[in-house]
Amino acid sequence: MSSYKDLQAKIFERDNYTCRYCGKSGREYRALVMSHIRTASMCGDDRESNLITLCRYCYNHISNNEIRAKFETKENADYFWRLYHEKVKGYCYYTNYIKKVFTENGVLMTRPQIDKYVNIFVKNDDDFNAFKAELQNTGYKNMPSKMRSDVRKYNHQVKNQSKE
Ligand SMILES: [Zn+2]
Repeated sequence: MSSYKDLQAKIFERDNYTCRYCGKSGREYRALVMSHIRTASMCGDDRESNLITLCRYCYNHISNNEIRAKFETKENADYFWRLYHEKVKGYCYYTNYIKKVFTENGVLMTRPQIDKYVNIFVKNDDDFNAFKAELQNTGYKNMPSKMRSDVRKYNHQVKNQSKE
């Protein structure tokens, strides 16, 4: 049950307060960053073996791909890749389905609009079934504006939370 700060302190200590990429010590630079080896968008998580100490310069200048190629363990690569593959498979299925039912019912909803919604609200089959039920209740004609308004509300919420 450790907080983000605790985790960060642990990773810095493990890496001896040194950027793992260029070897500069954070005591010289005072600007260390805890970074993911595999980013969350590629299904990386906060396990310690997926975290790394970088200096701010390397954090901003070295690509995610290079960090991943250099530091990811084979075990994590296999595990995260499987998760990613399943996520993408699910994701494509959900967005394709939604696009198809709207098109079949003569309702215009662009793929970026659908992508935004699916990214936030349709993460698994349960969410997808909930979406289909909501579509039944709301109807094809009214659903796009409801989806757009849900995305707006969500983004607004996130923005306010990050201000706290
Ligand atoms: Zn560095």
